[in-house]
Amino acid sequence: MRLKSAGPEDTGRIGFEIGRRLKPGDVVALYGDLGAGKTTLVRGMASAFGIPSGDVTSASFTIIAEYPSTPPFLHIDLYRIEREEDLEAIGFWESIGGDSVSVIEWAERIPKEDSAGFIKVRITAGPDDVREIASEDINEEDWNNL
Ligand code: ADP
Ligand code: MG
Repeated sequence: MRLKSAGPEDTGRIGFEIGRRLKPGDVVALYGDLGAGKTTLVRGMASAFGIPSGDVTSASFTIIAEYPSTPPFLHIDLYRIEREEDLEAIGFWESIGGDSVSVIEWAERIPKEDSAGFIKVRITAGPDDVREIASEDINEEDWNNL
């Protein structure tokens, strides 16, 4: 999947479309620079689970925010994680998967060999408000058919 977003609303809509395709146990790993639009995309994804987008703020300070939706929705922000051991310290590995849907900002912090099976999505800023949202783990045909 490779989509162009023209603005924040577009990214929110794409997030919603990704969100409604997710199943319990899915882990979405978001990659992209500060201001790329990761949290904006997460808001759209959360709305697919009935979570008001205003409830979803930057999770940088809480690191793991869990919303009591069905399935539970976890918004994780690893910006402050500096070492691999910190992932264990915050209970990262116990938190993700299971019956929940998890979305991780700053997935760059996770060692590559530990992120197998994650749905990896990269957001790249273009000129002005243009963003490219790309994932090799989301099939564009499935996308068009749903
Ligand atoms: P991140 O979580 O990656 O740091 P945020 O979603 O918090 O990024 O912020 C993205 C910023 O860029 C917001 O201020 C948003 O209004 C702006 N923006 C401009 N164009 C877009 C776009 N196409 N998609 C998402 N955000 C955009
Ligand atoms: Mg963010």
